[in-house]
This record gives sequence, C-alpha cells and structure tokens, in this order.
Amino acid sequence: MQDLTEAFVELIRRTSTDLPEDVEKSLEAAREREANGSAAVGALDAILSNIALARRESLPICQDTGTPIFYVKHPEGWSTRRLREQIRSAVVEATKQSYLRPNAVDAITDKNSGNNLGDPAFPTIHFEEIEGEELTVDLMLKGGGCENVGAQYSLPNGELGAGRDLDGVRKVALDAVQKAQGQGCAPGFLGVAIGGDRGSSFDASKEVLLKQIEESSPDQELADLETRLTEESNQLGIGPMGFGGKTTVLGSKITGLHRLPASFFVSVSYMCWANRHRRMTVQGDSVSYS
Ligand code: SF4
Repeated sequence: MQDLTEAFVELIRRTSTDLPEDVEKSLEAAREREANGSAAVGALDAILSNIALARRESLPICQDTGTPIFYVKHPEGWSTRRLREQIRSAVVEATKQSYLRPNAVDAITDKNSGNNLGDPAFPTIHFEEIEGEELTVDLMLKGGGCENVGAQYSLPNGELGAGRDLDGVRKVALDAVQKAQGQGCAPGFLGVAIGGDRGSSFDASKEVLLKQIEESSPDQELADLETRLTEESNQLGIGPMGFGGKTTVLGSKITGLHRLPASFFVSVSYMCWANRHRRMTVQGDSVSYS
C-alpha cells in the first residue's frame, strides 16, 4: 500500500484555499439577485473577493479552518490503520504549512494540542470498504460558527406544530434557519437527515452536504422539499451575514434513514458560505482531485 501522506496534504491545501466552483457560482448568482448598494451586496462582494484572493495566494478562505472530516471509501485490502496514520501525519504537516489553523483543544482544559490532533476523534475519519479498485477520500472542513447553529428535533414537536411527516420536517428545518439568524455566516447550505438514531442522523445530515449543489434527492418528494426549503428560507429576510436580503440559504439537501417506529429525528446541519469540500481519487499510482 502506497504512502499517500503528501497527497493528503495537497487535498487539505485545496480544500482550505480553493472553494468548489459550484459554491462560488451560487454566491455570484446570489449577488446578482440582491439590490444594488444593499448591505447584502457589500457582504457578498467581500466574500467573493476573499475567495479569489485565497485561491490566488493559496491561503485559507477563512481564519477558522474548521473540523477536518474525512470520508474514506477504500477497496478491499487497504489498511485503515495505515490510512489513519497517514491522514493524521498530513494534518500535522498541513497545520505547519498554515493550511489549517491549530483548532483542536482539550475538551475540559481548553489546552490547544498545537497540531490539530486529538485522541481519539480529531480529525474525524469515517471509513467504508467498497467494491472496485478505486480509493476516494472526501474532505469537509466544517467551521465552528455554522456547526454551533446545527440542531436536532424529535418529532412530533408541539411548540412548532410539527408532526411526523414531511411538513413537520419543513417546519423544524425552517425553525433552525430562523434561530440561526445568520450567525453561522449566511448564506449557507442546509443538510437535513430524517430518521436514524441521534448519532447516525447528525452524521448523515453532514455527509449529504458533500453533494453538488445541482444534485437533487433521487426521491421526488424530498427533491421538492429541498427546493421549497431553500425558497422559504430565503423569504425570512435574514440575508448574507444576517444583514437582511434575499439570500439566506443557497441550497438544501435532504436524506432519509430507516428509524425505530418510536423515534422520528430530524437533524439539521448548517454549512456556512465557506462550504469547503474536495475529493481525492486514487487509482493505482494515479492521484486526482476534484
Ligand atoms: S462559520 Fe464558516 S465562514 Fe463563519 S467563521 Fe466559521 S468557517 Fe468562517
């Protein structure tokens, strides 16, 4: 098995400094929709200049480089122990090269480890063995501000009048957006998971954020709800960075998980405009990035 440490450093560099094209285009389209001279346009202009500068100078898009979350899909025979070691070494090196800010602090004492490592779960790494010969690694850098405004609901929710159906899902997701009030650095993206247990539900609400903006749910009812959630979030008037305006959410993704009959969880993960995620693909000796 080859040593992919350097390739992982490059994956981290690209994720931290070069926002995906579809995310940038959605921010440009949002800028066109906002009123000339508004605070919303000012905020979006600052965001767009920042994205271009970060790409040109190979500098982090945001001072908070977030929690690194790796999703590794590997063919049979790869050692997850060695992959974990290589990813952790790459995180240390990327921190030295300032692609990542030292972000890992002790849960109780607040002491910073200085190298973005913490035992056992920093960075977060998910492994899955898959068919075929190709290894893919998706990396998401999840900012703290947007992570803080994520929410989980157990339906039914009497206060919001949300029952155990898709309209209930819509109500609680909009409640999460309303409560965030732009604090997670709007405009952003909603990842919604319906079902599962509390843990799997939150995990799925994050992983669904890896999809391309144009990629809708294969389930037509969920796809329709994705569109509706984005539209209705944008009618709340919260706007970029909470300054007011037409753009609070740039896109919504929804996924469903089997659940116990007794439980109906809805988890909402919010991703800020700095929606940093990239994929590395390894086939034989060849490594590519997208
Ligand atoms: S929420 Fe996102 S844009 Fe805001 S500070 Fe955190 S990483 Fe940066």
